[in-house]
Amino acid sequence: MTDSATPSRPDLLDYEPEAALALLQAWMAERGEPGYRAGQVFGRLWQRPVGSFEAMSELPKALREALAQSFRVTSLELAARQRSADGTEKFLFRLHDGQFIETVAIPDGDRMTFCISSQAGCALQCAFCATGAMGFQRNLQPSEIAGQVRALRMLTPPIIPTNIVFMGMGEPLMNWKSVGPTLTLLNDPRALGIGARHITISTVGVLPGIVALSERPEQFRLAISIHAPSDALRKTLMPVNTKYPLADVIAAARAFDRRVTFEYVMLGGVNDQPEHAAQRAQLARECRAFVNLIPLHPGGSMGFTPTPAAVITAFAKALRTRGVETAVRRSRGLDIAAACGQLRTERLGRRAPVAPEIDGEVHVA
Ligand code: SAH
Repeated sequence: MTDSATPSRPDLLDYEPEAALALLQAWMAERGEPGYRAGQVFGRLWQRPVGSFEAMSELPKALREALAQSFRVTSLELAARQRSADGTEKFLFRLHDGQFIETVAIPDGDRMTFCISSQAGCALQCAFCATGAMGFQRNLQPSEIAGQVRALRMLTPPIIPTNIVFMGMGEPLMNWKSVGPTLTLLNDPRALGIGARHITISTVGVLPGIVALSERPEQFRLAISIHAPSDALRKTLMPVNTKYPLADVIAAARAFDRRVTFEYVMLGGVNDQPEHAAQRAQLARECRAFVNLIPLHPGGSMGFTPTPAAVITAFAKALRTRGVETAVRRSRGLDIAAACGQLRTERLGRRAPVAPEIDGEVHVA
């Protein structure tokens, strides 16, 4: 690919709007081009996105060629697309160095939530997570994180998100260097223009990252994966608890100046007993946190069993009676292995195109 052959050309999609415009303006000025050309190019990055300079047909051909010699606009390569019977769609992208990442688009009434990836693989090895099992490959660039949203907007017909959750592959707060600028790209009206309250960062509780997020003036939302009400249990499920113990994570949640959501994946017989609900409620009350109970996605379950629906309902009730606002998440995309990490695992395990699922439809690009 020409893009990886000359990596020294800056990728315009890695820059926040201010910086991308400045870069383009300086470049145009140097060539004696009118200033409005910078805005024309910039408009084709996020708002009316195209896959290459070549496709910016409103620009003179020579200018398009010169731009392509100086800059890149990396488009993610769609490797597979799967649609679930419930409307959830899952996308597998191949990056320039052969890594694969996943994005899930989840329709719900008039909402369209994109679940995006921030790293290729993940270093955290949570016991029940398919991404954790594959290990860490590398951090993604802003062009590869916000680029997932761009790629779905470039489909025919386009898919436009109303909400973004960083709940795909990876730990976003261990890649703050890219996630910080990505948040700007997602939120800035000159780029993707998604309201900050509609963008949620999900983390295992990386403390310096929580501080960095709280220093942002925008109202981005924070979700923390708690999954256990005690250190002893949390350590067995989430090795990162040794580095960032529960008490410190709870303190960080309390210090965060906006309302926090606690994620709690329900693991049959492990963290779903009445005493867990009581401890859980205590922690949530301390931080005025909202609790999301997540049914275990069996595809990535690694020997765990999902908590029966009736037990989840009872657990939710036990939290609510103790004054904790609680929601039970619905599992989506069960028939297309939409639990994080699964599609990539299938691809790397078999190399062959993903086979059609019973209720699903598969397109391999
Ligand atoms: N690293 C971040 C974001 C990615 S995971 C974090 O851990 O929060 C997004 C959410 O999916 C986390 O709450 C994670 O614990 C949860 N998850 C992982 N595997 C799951 C599975 N098999 N079933 C249900 N939820 C799962």
